[in-house]
Amino acid sequence: MEEKLLLSFPEWLSEIDENIERKIHSIVKENSINNEQAKNFVDAKIKGGFFSKKDIDFNKINFKVENSFAIQVNQKRHFESRTIEHSVVPYDPDKAFAKVGFEGELEDLWDNSELWEGNYLPKFEKKELKWVRGGSAEILPCNDCNSLGKIRCMKCKGKGEYYEKCYKCSGKGIIQSKCPTCNGKGRVNEGQITVGGGRRIGTGAGYSSREVQCLRCNASGYLSERCSKCSGQGQVLVTCNKCDGTGEIICSTCKGYCQLYSCDEIKTICKPIEENFIVSCFDKVKSSWFNSEKNSEYFEITEELDLGEYIKSVPKDGRVLLEGYDLKIIPISRVILNDSKKETSIFIVGKDKKIIGATSSYLDYNKILLFVVLPIIVALTLIYFFVIK
Ligand SMILES: [Zn+2]
Ligand SMILES: [Zn+2]
Ligand SMILES: [Zn+2]
Ligand SMILES: [Zn+2]
Repeated sequence: MEEKLLLSFPEWLSEIDENIERKIHSIVKENSINNEQAKNFVDAKIKGGFFSKKDIDFNKINFKVENSFAIQVNQKRHFESRTIEHSVVPYDPDKAFAKVGFEGELEDLWDNSELWEGNYLPKFEKKELKWVRGGSAEILPCNDCNSLGKIRCMKCKGKGEYYEKCYKCSGKGIIQSKCPTCNGKGRVNEGQITVGGGRRIGTGAGYSSREVQCLRCNASGYLSERCSKCSGQGQVLVTCNKCDGTGEIICSTCKGYCQLYSCDEIKTICKPIEENFIVSCFDKVKSSWFNSEKNSEYFEITEELDLGEYIKSVPKDGRVLLEGYDLKIIPISRVILNDSKKETSIFIVGKDKKIIGATSSYLDYNKILLFVVLPIIVALTLIYFFVIK
């Protein structure tokens, strides 16, 4: 039966809080329990039915107490990544690029936050900023239009007008219409009064008709005339709708400004990355054990810490601008019970000692061998002999 203090912690914790060692010492010292107290705590839990007396019999088992602590670490990192893009845009001296001279080297966004009126960088909040890299801005002539701002219209080949198929005659040059005389039939009824002997006698006169070819349309049923719109040419000259007849259009590269603005644009994205983990000499500490502990202390550091196995390293394409840590320390005492067959750990957690978490190793290695490993070997052997062979 023995009691001991476990106080080791990783070095970087003192980088976050230089007093961490003193704090841990005093917390562990204040909350350490001896064998007698540990036994009383466990006994109380046995009486409360939390543990069974059969499992924990202090007369038969060895036990020892380890007094230690756990720290819940919440790490926030304000991570910045930048990309540089070469950008060439039309140069409008009045509007977009009144800020050509503004090329401040914003190497440190925190220190230069006043440059970004209303654009300061809030801690651990996502923010995107863009600026022109110092010395990279140039005003260039537009080669696409020889700095004229206009280029020849390709639709009319610079002429301002072009021939288009005549819409009235569909390009045929003639317009055909149905012959009104024969109503499109090509033939007409020719009516005639027939009189006997050629004399007009009033009565006895007869009426007869016969179909004859329509002379007006030459029996074709339609009349053709030259299209008046295109004078029979089939096409008409129209004003180019792309350039309004000027033969030129505005250069799309420089938007008519004749010049281009070229620069390296730096885009930065600042965003928080958060990680939670627990530092303890015990490996079975649960984050729920910290719930009753309200107090945490916040620390801010500007030097990036290497926490090794505890956290993922930040992506290579950026850097950490700020690191903040919330630390919560709780005392933990572990009571290790050993009855020579199995080892059980009971954790007495927190300053109020109300929480008792127990983890036990119920894994009896002899039984595992007998009931798990052995049957598998037997099954594999049988498969080998009966199936594969
Ligand atoms: Zn045109
Ligand atoms: Zn006709
Ligand atoms: Zn026509
Ligand atoms: Zn141009």
